[in-house]
Amino acid sequence: MTATKGYAALNTNEKLAPWNFERREVGNHDVQIEILYCGVCHTDIHNIKNEWFPGIFPMIPGHEIVGRVVKVGDNAKKFKIGDIVGVGTYVDSCRECEDCKNGHEVFCLQNVQTYNSRDKNGLPTYGGYSNYIVVDEDYTLRISEKLNLAATAPLLCAGVTTYSPLRKWKVGKGHKLGVIGLGGLGHIAVKFGVALGAEVTVFSTSPEKEADAKKIGAHHFIASKDQEQMKSVFHSFDFIIDTVSANHNINPYIEILRTNGVYINVGLPSKPWEISSFSVVVGNKVITGSGHGGLDEAQEMLDFCAENNIVSDIEIIDIKNINEALERLERGDVRYRFVIDMATL
Ligand code: NAP
Ligand code: ZN
Repeated sequence: MTATKGYAALNTNEKLAPWNFERREVGNHDVQIEILYCGVCHTDIHNIKNEWFPGIFPMIPGHEIVGRVVKVGDNAKKFKIGDIVGVGTYVDSCRECEDCKNGHEVFCLQNVQTYNSRDKNGLPTYGGYSNYIVVDEDYTLRISEKLNLAATAPLLCAGVTTYSPLRKWKVGKGHKLGVIGLGGLGHIAVKFGVALGAEVTVFSTSPEKEADAKKIGAHHFIASKDQEQMKSVFHSFDFIIDTVSANHNINPYIEILRTNGVYINVGLPSKPWEISSFSVVVGNKVITGSGHGGLDEAQEMLDFCAENNIVSDIEIIDIKNINEALERLERGDVRYRFVIDMATL
């Protein structure tokens, strides 16, 4: 076993505190990764607070992991010691079902999440707010050393979650794309939308984010609480990607889609939506969702980011300030992702 240090919530809603634990030995197909950076996703808050389902505690959150390979299993072929790699939201799946075979490992019924989950032996998994992790090499991704490594960490979740649906729906030149919520996922969705050639509009509840939105590359900005601004874009968008973490009314956004427009939800607020039947019937609207992405898609996204020089806008934090960072993230006070420098652990 490998002695490991981390920061855990010992129970739901509790503040994170230092917690030592053991990782499994490096198996034949595993790599041991020294974690360099870990992003702080809004999902970490949903999990610590049991907002979706009762969590497994002590919980070490973190599924936006970038690190260096320090040990390689006897039969692991993909990586060598010293390679820079990434780990996203899951670390295993059955590898045999239809979803695994079709590159949708994330939807495999035996998918093992990076934390707040149980591995095939029934043991809890622990995430990236820690100094080491042991992962099967097949669930470990290559990272280009051309990219700023701290700013690359958020790509492992926020990146692939927004890249996957934009590619699936072939969003690109000639399309108007609306991005709802300029947070961790939203600001990366803007960068991808722009890189893919779409005309991108940010819809934000925070008017003070307009200058940032434009700097990131957005062509337009709508303050979503301003009824006049919302009316001005009625019936005009091909695609909308909703990245909002809080419960909100989506009907006004469905109305700004043009005929056959597609509403892609990636946010995970806890309450069900209420959708007006008229808002989807009139204009043949499509409402769809997207969960994370497959391993091949995640690798494609990382390679796309290396080619197009896309990384997250980040604020690097010391792990001892993680509780303050989680509070700030919850009230929307982050530009645009916190990343923990694990050297501070
Ligand atoms: P985040 O950084 O907190 O960003 C969320 C943004 O939502 C905020 O910046 C804010 O943008 C907007 N917002 C917050 N409260 C709002 C409200 N009451 N009404 C309208 N807008 C509001 O969170 P994140 O890390 O990007 O995650 C976003 C959501 O995606 C979370 O629910 C997370 O769990 C989920 N998620 C899903 C997947 C997946 O596989 N589908 C993967 C990762 C994360 P403005 O200030 O611009 O309005
Ligand atoms: Zn995440």
